Parts: sequence; structure tokens; C-alpha cells
Amino acid sequence: MTALEQLIEALRRLPGVGQKSAQRMAYHLLQHDRAGADTLARALQDAARNIGHCERCHTFSEAPVCPICQDRHRDARLLCVVESPADQAAMERTASYHGYYFVLQGRISPLDGVSTREIGVDQLLARAVDGQVEEVILATSFTAEGEATAHVLAEALRARGLRSTRLARGVPVGSELEYVDLGTIAHALVDRRAT
Ligand SMILES: [Zn+2]
Repeated sequence: MTALEQLIEALRRLPGVGQKSAQRMAYHLLQHDRAGADTLARALQDAARNIGHCERCHTFSEAPVCPICQDRHRDARLLCVVESPADQAAMERTASYHGYYFVLQGRISPLDGVSTREIGVDQLLARAVDGQVEEVILATSFTAEGEATAHVLAEALRARGLRSTRLARGVPVGSELEYVDLGTIAHALVDRRAT
């Protein structure tokens, strides 16, 4: 493979990028923005090397424990479970949630072979029984897989004597949290219901 082909192949790994867009990006960088190509390469390398997962909530973090988990002013009685760091960021932008988080590695998807193990349910359960958490808010997406994931988590939490709630409807069915407007998320949070 030539260097150009390798670049196109690498770009195609990105979600939503097909052969044509990958080619367009590669040509753009090489023809018009060599400096941008260097910046991009360095940023990718730094991120891939330095960003790991917070040992408490599993979100992306450069430190062993992320800034949110280190924040002592949050409400330790609340633990909000989301599917991704992007969903966590959406929740944070609403500025209406002040508890802690646990960030799953996606959602359960039997067809794709993604089970409770892969998304970190064991770590969530270990985190939730710290003696301080009183309510686990299930903020997985309102897709079929997100709902199934919430159901499995609610059962597992109940078996350990933990109370869980689910974001209220109002978030459109089929939605990924990260694309829902902030007011809707904030309302769904206030109107959350017992599972
Ligand atoms: Zn954390």
C-alpha cells in the first residue's frame, strides 16, 4: 500500500466516513493544509498515548481520577449512568445535575456480541455499592438497546439493594442523549421515575 492509500484507509476507520469522504479529506490535507495534517497527526498521537480512563467513573481522563470524580462539592448520593463520554458531556452542559457519573463502554447489543461484561457493568456495580450512593440514575439512550441496557442494570442494582431511576420520557424515542437538546435532558432528569 502506498502512503496515500494508507492514509485513506486510516481515515475510513472514523464513524460515518466512507471511501469518498476519506479520499476528499486526504487530498485536502495533502494539497491545501500540510500544517493542519501535522497538527492532526500530533493531536491524535498525544490523545492516543495520554488519555486513559478514570479509575472511578471510566470516562476519558489524563489523570488516574478525572476532575469530576475529584470534585468534592458534588452530591455523592447520586450516580448517573451514561453510555459514553459524549453523553456525559451533554449531561454536564445542562448544568442541572450535580452528582457523580459512571460511564459505560457503550450499550448491550446481543446482535453485535456486546454483553454486560464488555460495557463495564461489573465495575459499575462495584462503584455503586460504595455506601454513599442512594440513587442510580439510568441515562442510557432511548433506543431499543439503551432501554434493554437500562433494564438489565435496574435488575442488577435491585438485586444489590440499590434504588435506580430512569430519565423521564420526553426524550424522543430512538434518541442518543448526546444529540438531544439540553432543556429536554434537564426536564427528563427532573421528572425521572423509579425503575
Ligand atoms: Zn471519573
